[in-house]
Amino acid sequence: MDHYHRSAQNWFSASQIDRRTERRHDQDWLQSQHDAVNSAFILIHQRCCLLNVEATALLQLPCAIDNIQTCYLGSHAGHALFAQTLSAEHANQHAAHHSGRWLDLRTIATTLSADEAAICAYAVAIANWQQQHRYCGCCGSANLIQHGGHRMTCSNAACGHITFPRIDPAMITLVQHEDAILLGRQHSWPERRYSTLAGFVEPGESIEDAVHRKVQEEAGILLQEIHYHSSQPWPFPASLMLGFRACAASTRIVLGAELQDARWWRLSDFEQSVRNGDLLLSMPQSIAFALIRDWYQEQTGQALLELVHK
Ligand SMILES: [Zn+2]
Repeated sequence: MDHYHRSAQNWFSASQIDRRTERRHDQDWLQSQHDAVNSAFILIHQRCCLLNVEATALLQLPCAIDNIQTCYLGSHAGHALFAQTLSAEHANQHAAHHSGRWLDLRTIATTLSADEAAICAYAVAIANWQQQHRYCGCCGSANLIQHGGHRMTCSNAACGHITFPRIDPAMITLVQHEDAILLGRQHSWPERRYSTLAGFVEPGESIEDAVHRKVQEEAGILLQEIHYHSSQPWPFPASLMLGFRACAASTRIVLGAELQDARWWRLSDFEQSVRNGDLLLSMPQSIAFALIRDWYQEQTGQALLELVHK
């Protein structure tokens, strides 16, 4: 399987939307999309989207709500799709009016189709960025939203600073040595939860350098080989997870400050612990699970999901 298809299996990665980035600067074209008879509007409130009451589908409304900021998401299923961000007062009112239900992204990922869950993640990430960049970072004047919601320009003509949606790259990696994998747990996690190591990339650092640095910082393990696996948008609030697999050049664990524990799980130990509930993995649609899933498949020829559900 290539990287494209691996990434499409991860949460929030499988949107069928055509973003039409080449037309966003054209205000007349955006208006024609907005006014088209088959255009659709989804509603955002904080980190939630409005779904039908059964929570099985994203509510797509045929008309925009007046005087609410509208963001062009792209072309989807043959029509233009927009998102509108509501205040708390409007959120309650419209949920009642449309018999809808507000659900957060993590819940949405388990109830909606991969396509609709990815649209929600996209819309929430843009809305969050707009909310956090209402003022210019250079001069403090109000920002103007442009390009269908995908660009901010400072309203102070003498400044004119332009801001684009922020994305924070982060690495996540499965470290392997012989038939063992390295998993760690953070202090705040539920008991028995262990996962792959992860961390943000710093300015002036390659993503590969970040893999080496974070694994050494958190577990004291040196790496000798790393390979890219897949990526996953992670809008909490603005990460892009870049997944890797790595081989360890050393095995002695020295815990850093961020982890409560880290340990090597040999294949037999891993299998037994997952089976009897002593080891709880991340949700199946996460990139952390995908990294472990592929390792387990290689080692045993078996599906990790079947082991988890036994
Ligand atoms: Zn400015």
